[in-house]
Formats: sequence, structure tokens, C-alpha cells
Amino acid sequence: MNKPHYQEPIPLAQPPLADALDDLSKFYILIILHEAPSHGYGILTKYRRRTGQALSPGTLYPFLQQLEQQDIVSSLDKPVGKRPRREYQLTTKGRKAVNQLFQRFASITAAAFESNLEICASCGCKVYEGTHYEEIQGKLRAFCCSHCAASYKQHLKEDSTT
Ligand SMILES: [Zn+2]
Repeated sequence: MNKPHYQEPIPLAQPPLADALDDLSKFYILIILHEAPSHGYGILTKYRRRTGQALSPGTLYPFLQQLEQQDIVSSLDKPVGKRPRREYQLTTKGRKAVNQLFQRFASITAAAFESNLEICASCGCKVYEGTHYEEIQGKLRAFCCSHCAASYKQHLKEDSTT
């Protein structure tokens, strides 16, 4: 494990933010809140529209409450028409912590993604797209580009003649 290099301690290892790494529905709630302040109902609607799945209010409201207790989210009553609605938004501290959670998530997925990347047999770079394959001496080799493939073959030729 890499040592985290946070400038200040962020309660990532504790609930409720840590729960979001175990429970993607919570992670997605944080994504929605990170975009804009939202009413509970608005979060439920966005969630359903984006993921195609219903979010249970029984998941949402207790989670929002936990976030509020930890000063990650603040809420304000903002009536919509005649109906009272409570709007939730990330606090400054919450935004920082959520950004770090996103970074951690990104590094987890990047590790999975990178383990699928081909390495150029000639220059050793990771090939993110457009892998150039050539069969050389009966083996399929991956290169970042045709130039690397050409120089790889050139080196083989030089090695065999010396
Ligand atoms: Zn290359």
C-alpha cells in the first residue's frame, strides 16, 4: 500500500465517507452532491436517471444525516413553491474530503486499468490506445507505434549479425 500523502488528516478511514468505497450507491450520492447542492428528492431523481436504478430513501437520508453530523454536508430549508424542501450541499471541508475520496477511487480503478495495458516491446512505454501488434520470430509483440516495431526489428537484425 502507498502511504497517503494528505496534507491534513481526512476521515477517509471512518464512516460515513469510507462507506462510499464499499457501497457504490453512497459513492454516487457524493458525486451528485459534488456537482451541485440538491434536495433529497433531486438526488433520488438524478440517481435514477443516471444509473437506471432506484435509490432507496432508506439509504439516502440516513447517509445524508451521517454526513451532516460529520460536517461534510450542510443543509438548509429552501421551500419549493409552498412545499418545504431541505437542500443539501457539501461544506468546504466536505468538498476537500470528497475530492480525496474521488482521487483514491481513481487510483484504485487506474491500477485495474493499467494492469490491462500493453507495454511497448521497444521503448517500454505503456500503450493507452492504438496498440501496434507485429508477429516477430513467431511471437506476437506489442508496440506503441510502427516506428518502435521497426526499430525493434532493426535491433534484432543487428544483434544476429554481430
Ligand atoms: Zn514504443
